[in-house]
Amino acid sequence: MDGSNAMAAPAVLILLGPPGAGKGTQARKLTDRFGLVQLSTGDLLRAAVAEGTEAGKQAEAVMKAGGLVSDDIVIAILRDRMSQPDCAAGVILDGFPRTAGQARALDSLLAESGQEIAAAISLEVDDAAMVERVSGRYTCAKCGEGYHDSFKQPETAGVCDVCGSTEFKRRPDDNADAVATRLEAYHAETAPLIAYYSDQGVLKTVDAMADIDSVSDRMAGIVQDAFA
Ligand code: AMP
Repeated sequence: MDGSNAMAAPAVLILLGPPGAGKGTQARKLTDRFGLVQLSTGDLLRAAVAEGTEAGKQAEAVMKAGGLVSDDIVIAILRDRMSQPDCAAGVILDGFPRTAGQARALDSLLAESGQEIAAAISLEVDDAAMVERVSGRYTCAKCGEGYHDSFKQPETAGVCDVCGSTEFKRRPDDNADAVATRLEAYHAETAPLIAYYSDQGVLKTVDAMADIDSVSDRMAGIVQDAFA
């Protein structure tokens, strides 16, 4: 600890929403705008799979099928990442918590570290549109910029608008079967957290069917108020 992050009331922002709601896209925009750290448990798990760690080996098949990885694995990964110094000034949680057990574990972790939940933003979308959104999406392999077969192609075919890379990738769980399972998991395990955070007085809802920039302006307003 060098003390450089000793800011008042470090706070945590939670993004809730089904696959395709735009959690990752919006989290990236908020990090650019507010200098917060984006913490995606999906990204951390994909990295663990790529590195072949024990947690990654246990998570791989579940993730591919669209199920939820066990709370023990995900909480351990989150705990480890949150203890790193860059998270001390506040983080945006993208994809965590996803179960009641994870939400309780987060409450304990934050109580230990003196952080608090500034807001839990629920991105509200129509399920039917999510399968199409998720099935057609891909990202730049280098900078992570998001694209979509129907909604957002690069200006020059095959070249990333942001960094010029010509390599793109698709997630193995962005197919119709896995998306259906991911939506089911969302409704069964994660949607109940909307009431959990409403009871804590930190819930905000956003119409995430609107265009990306309108959603992002609305979310920026919430963050500004919450982190004020
Ligand atoms: P995401 O990138 O957030 O869509 O997550 C991709 C996949 O990683 C999910 O479908 C789950 O299999 C797994 N995953 C990510 N975050 C969690 C979490 N908080 N709890 C359980 N599984 C998770």
